[in-house]
Amino acid sequence: MICKFCWTAATDAGRSMEKESDIETSANRVTCGPKWRQRLPLRQRVVAAVVVLYLLFAPSRSESAPPSIPEDRVTLELSALGKQGDTIARAREQVLEILQQGNACTAWFQESDPDPAEVFRSLHFELEESGTSRVYGMRNSRGEQLFKHPWGARSFENAGRSSTIQVNANGPFFSRTSIVMHVEPGGRLFRPSGVAVLTVSSYAGNTPEAQITILLHELGHIIGRLPEDDDSWDGRSSRNTSDVLRHCKAEAHAAVHKSSRGSR
Ligand SMILES: [Zn+2]
Repeated sequence: MICKFCWTAATDAGRSMEKESDIETSANRVTCGPKWRQRLPLRQRVVAAVVVLYLLFAPSRSESAPPSIPEDRVTLELSALGKQGDTIARAREQVLEILQQGNACTAWFQESDPDPAEVFRSLHFELEESGTSRVYGMRNSRGEQLFKHPWGARSFENAGRSSTIQVNANGPFFSRTSIVMHVEPGGRLFRPSGVAVLTVSSYAGNTPEAQITILLHELGHIIGRLPEDDDSWDGRSSRNTSDVLRHCKAEAHAAVHKSSRGSR
């Protein structure tokens, strides 16, 4: 299947200068569960029985969403990514909370897939450590100042269940500000010209609202709810983000504020 990366750009003029490249999906990974067929000594069987009872009756962190094997696998993958993986995991939980409710945001995604929460739960995440971090600024032929911001995340259009979202480790998912590099007219000479706040629509970078928006945007590509976009100046990525927020802004706001109340 020929498909292009779709991107979450940071602002209206946002785009990356990086070339597209292929990524591997991890749809074929296998997670093996515990095997209980081996005979155990009596004492170990008693311990095993206690463990089973604890697992049966221990309080669940996510009572509305019983853990499934794919979710366990994704959680383990994210925990292996360190602090940035923890940030993705928190935003992922907030997106799942939105999609598990009957609301306007979920209904919008359901126009393309009847169970967007289940698709999102199956997705894998990767960090793109070499993702661009800089904002590039230049004046066009009409003298207008233009900027292109680093991308937030990317995925394949119509990639479906168990596909992968690549998150830019240096983009607005994790960073609030970036150095602006000025591009000389007609040339490729760059010089630093200040610092800019990265934004995802009206949200500053490295905020829960921006992170939720980035993930919802990528889900929109993965289930074909949003049209393809790329790292060009045409503004399609930002229009796609606006489309996401037109349907999901209230739910994103509620998810963030519910989480902040719960963490006090
Ligand atoms: Zn996009």
